[in-house]
Amino acid sequence: MTPVLMIFLDGVGIGREDYQFNPFFKYKFLFIEHFFGKVPSLNNPVIINSGNFLFPTDAALGVDGLPQSGTGQVSILCGINAPAYIGKHFGPFPYSTTIPVIKEKNIFTAVKSMGYPAAFANAYPAVFFDYLKAGKHRLSTTSMSARLSKTKLNTVTDLRKGKAVTAEITNERWNLKLGYRLPVIRPETAANRLLKIASANAFTLFEYFLTDHVGHGRYDDNISKVIAVLDAFLYAVLDRIKRDEMTLIICSDHGNFEDLSVKTHTLNPALTISAGINAGRFFDEIKNISQIKEAILKNIR
Ligand SMILES: [Zn+2]
Repeated sequence: MTPVLMIFLDGVGIGREDYQFNPFFKYKFLFIEHFFGKVPSLNNPVIINSGNFLFPTDAALGVDGLPQSGTGQVSILCGINAPAYIGKHFGPFPYSTTIPVIKEKNIFTAVKSMGYPAAFANAYPAVFFDYLKAGKHRLSTTSMSARLSKTKLNTVTDLRKGKAVTAEITNERWNLKLGYRLPVIRPETAANRLLKIASANAFTLFEYFLTDHVGHGRYDDNISKVIAVLDAFLYAVLDRIKRDEMTLIICSDHGNFEDLSVKTHTLNPALTISAGINAGRFFDEIKNISQIKEAILKNIR
């Protein structure tokens, strides 16, 4: 068994070479430039460079319509074709009939049932736990998977101890939007924390969703700022990961961010990146988002 770290980026596809509407072309992403040498596009969707693999992953799964997060994330975390299962793409929350599937098949439960530890690295603010206490349970697939598998949902206390990471990476937006007074950390510090958590678990998930917000035009700040934080974070993870001890997979549930000419999701393939021990096998085995879970479990068996 070697650890797998999954960084899930909501709504990131591989799109057209477009310097106006595709942020990967419009802005310089240092992690792409340094580790891949060129920007992926629909014409050049596969880039293999020094043990780093960047490739397209089908998110439509043979079902008409625009892929959505509810079905997309169930496909990723549970290893099933969720849109085919319910007959449509659905989101952002999981469709009711997929909830028993999440309970039975989520990747945290699968890893734990093999006798290995699994972690969800994100921290959640107090308002989230108040929401749960109030008996509300409309959760994303990720937090629902963690809850149903009894995987710890990290609090602000874990965050203060450096044992969790906020979904926005630096803590800045928690201070700004939620009224916390947390120390703002550098993206590189967040990357170190995440790698430390990942090295102690067979499987670790970190979820980032501002990319989908930017794609929907819902991000209220300068988008070059969100890009700079994400870029520095991913650069540090790729730079500092012990490649002979761990496998990294960066994946997404559908396109959105890569085409800012529309505020909806796209039909583009999802962006996937692998690095570390089994990076090449992940590239060989993952053609659509429902194959990600199995590729990870094979690593753990
Ligand atoms: Zn979305």
